Amino acid sequence: MNINKNPLLDFSNLPCFSSISHSNVGEAIDQLLSENKALTDHLLASDQIPTWSTFVQPMEDANEGLSRAWGPVSHLNSVMNSPELREAYNENLPKLTQYYAGIAQNLSLYNKFRELKASKSFSILSVAQKKIVENELRDFQLGGAELPDSDKPRFMEIQEQLSQLASKFEENVLDATNAYSLVIMDEHELAGLPADVLEAAQDAAKQEGSKGYKFTLQAPSYMPLMQYAENRILRETIYKAYVTRASEFGPVELDNTQLIADIVKLRNEAAVMLGFNSYAELSLASKMAESPQQVDDFLQELAHRAKPFAERDMKELYEFASSVLGLENMQAWDVSFASEKLRLARYNFSDQEVKQYFPESQVLPGLFKLIHTLYGLKVRLSKAEVWHADVKFYDIIDDGGNLIGQFYLDLYAREHKRGGAWMDDALTRRRKGDVVQTPVAYLTCNFSAPVGNKPALFTHDEVITLFHEFGHGLHHLLTQVEDLGVSGINGVEWDAVELPSQFMENFCWEWDVLSHMTQHADSKKPLPRALFDKMIEAKNFQSGLHTLRQIEFSLFDLRLHGVATVVPCTALQLLQKIRNQVAVMVPPDYNRFPNNFTHIFAGGYAAGYYSYKWAEVLSADAYGLFEDNGVLSSEIGAKFWREVLAVGGSRPALESFVAFRGREPDMDALLRHHGMS
Ligand code: ZN
Repeated sequence: MNINKNPLLDFSNLPCFSSISHSNVGEAIDQLLSENKALTDHLLASDQIPTWSTFVQPMEDANEGLSRAWGPVSHLNSVMNSPELREAYNENLPKLTQYYAGIAQNLSLYNKFRELKASKSFSILSVAQKKIVENELRDFQLGGAELPDSDKPRFMEIQEQLSQLASKFEENVLDATNAYSLVIMDEHELAGLPADVLEAAQDAAKQEGSKGYKFTLQAPSYMPLMQYAENRILRETIYKAYVTRASEFGPVELDNTQLIADIVKLRNEAAVMLGFNSYAELSLASKMAESPQQVDDFLQELAHRAKPFAERDMKELYEFASSVLGLENMQAWDVSFASEKLRLARYNFSDQEVKQYFPESQVLPGLFKLIHTLYGLKVRLSKAEVWHADVKFYDIIDDGGNLIGQFYLDLYAREHKRGGAWMDDALTRRRKGDVVQTPVAYLTCNFSAPVGNKPALFTHDEVITLFHEFGHGLHHLLTQVEDLGVSGINGVEWDAVELPSQFMENFCWEWDVLSHMTQHADSKKPLPRALFDKMIEAKNFQSGLHTLRQIEFSLFDLRLHGVATVVPCTALQLLQKIRNQVAVMVPPDYNRFPNNFTHIFAGGYAAGYYSYKWAEVLSADAYGLFEDNGVLSSEIGAKFWREVLAVGGSRPALESFVAFRGREPDMDALLRHHGMS
C-alpha cells in the first residue's frame, strides 16, 4: 500500500484496519463525494440514449467506491466505538445521507433510467440487470424524484434529520447500557449463579482493579443474572436498570422519548408527501407483503392461534412460581428465573449443563461440516487484517479449490461493541470485466468470551444465533449474481431477508448435526443422546409466550407507523393498548421497552419488524422440504442454493420460494415447528 494514500481510499484489497484512523474519514468521504458528483454531472450532460455500460455501470462503480470507504468506518463505529471515531462518523453521516437523498430525488437521473427502460437496449439486459433498473425506478419514486421542486428541500431535510436521530437513538442505548454497572462484594448475595458466570463477573471487576463481582447490562452478564440469581431484590434492581435504559428515569441527555416522537412524525410526514396514507404503506411498497392490513391480519391470525398456548404457558408458570418457588405474585423480574426453574423441573437439565458441551472449538467445525454436507463447500481459516485480536478470517472454497467467499468472525461481547448479532457486507460479488469479485462478509456476535485459558463455551441459544447469522452470511456469499444491485442480499425484499438465516436455525435441533459438534469442557465426552432428547422435548417450552411477544413488538411497530395524520396517543400508550389485546403478561409501568427498540428506531426494521415472523413462515416451510427428503440431503441443499441463495434479489422472493418449494408458503409448518398445531 502507498503510505501516502488514505487507507479508506485504497480499494486494492480488503480494508487495512490497523491503518484506518478517524482522521481519514472526512478526507476520504469528501473526495469520493466530489468525484461522484462530477460523474453524475458528466452522465447527465450526455445526450446519448443511456445504456447499461455507459450509464448504470459507472454509477454502480461510483456508489460501490463510496460504500467501500464508508463500510469500514460504519463497521468500526459498531464494533470498536471510540469518542473520536463516533465524532468522525457523525460528522460525515449527514454528507452521505444528503448525497443518497439527493440522488434519489434527482429528476434528471430518474428520467435517464426511464429512457433506458424504454430503449431497445433494455430488452437485451440480463434478468438481474432488468431487475436493477426496475428497482431504481421504484426507489426514485420512493425517494421523492417526482415531488414538485418546492417540496424537495423539505423532503431532503427530513431524510437528514431522520438519519441523525437514528444515530443518536442508537448511541443513547449504547451509552445507557455502558453507563450502568453493579459491583457486588458479598458472594452470598449471588447464590444460584453458575460458576462460569461468577468467574466472568470477578474477571470484569478485576480488570478495573476492583474486588468483588461486576455485572453490566450487556447480554452475557444480564441474562444469566436474571435467569439464575436467587436474590429477588437483586433481580429487580438490575431488571429495572435494564428496562429503563435511555428513558426519562436516567440522564436526560440519554433519554430517547422525544426522539421516538420526532422519528415517527418525520417518517409519516415524508410518506404523506409521497402520496401514501402512512409510513407503513411507504415501508411496504418495497416489501413482499402487500399492505399494512395484510400484515395486521397475518399477525392477528398468528396471535389467535398462539394465544391459547401462551395462556397455558403463563398459567403453568404462575402456579409453579407460587407453589414450588414460593414466589407469590410473580413479577416481570421473576419470569426468566421461574421459567428456568420450571424448565429444570420438567425436563431435568439446565442451559448451563448444555453449555458445557458446546466449546467454540467444536461448534465452528460442526457448522462448517454442515456447510460441506449441504453445499459441498469447505471453510478454512485464512488471513486478513482485523480490528481486534479476537477476530478471525475464513475462506469458503468449493471442491475444485475455487474461492467462493470470505468472512470475518467477531464472536465475543466487549465494551464499546454494539450488542446483538448481525451480518454485514464488506464486499459484494459482481463482475468487473473478466474478473468476478469475491464477496466478503462481517459476522458479528456478542457471546461470552473465553475465561482464563479455557475455550469459549456457547449456550444452545448462542449456537442458534451463530447459525442464524451464518445463514445471512451464506445468502450474501453464495450468490451467483454478477451485478451489484441485486447480488447477495442486495435488493432482496426486507421481509424475506430472514428466510436463509432462520432456515439455518433448524439444523441446531438435528441430532445428525449436533452430535458432531459437541465435547464436554471437562469430561471431553460428546452430547449424550438422552440430554439431546430432553432438549428436543424442551424446545417448544413457552413457545406460545415467545410467539406472542414477537407479535406484540410487530403490531406495535406496524401500528405506530400506520396512522399518518393524527397521532392518537404516545408510543407507550399504544404499546399498552396492544399488550391489552395480545399479551398475557403486562410488565411494570416503568418498563420503557420502546426507548431501546433499536430495530425500528435505529435499524432498518421500521414498519418491518413483522418480517421475522413473516419470513419464519417461509423458512419453516422451506425446511419442510428438507424434512421430507432427509435434512442432510445434498440434493435439496443444491436446490436451495440454486433457487434461493444464488439468485439474491434478481427476482421476487415469492418466485424464489415457489421455485424451491413447488407451491406458495403455508403458515402450518411454522406452527408445527413450535408445537402449536
Ligand atoms: Zn437475522
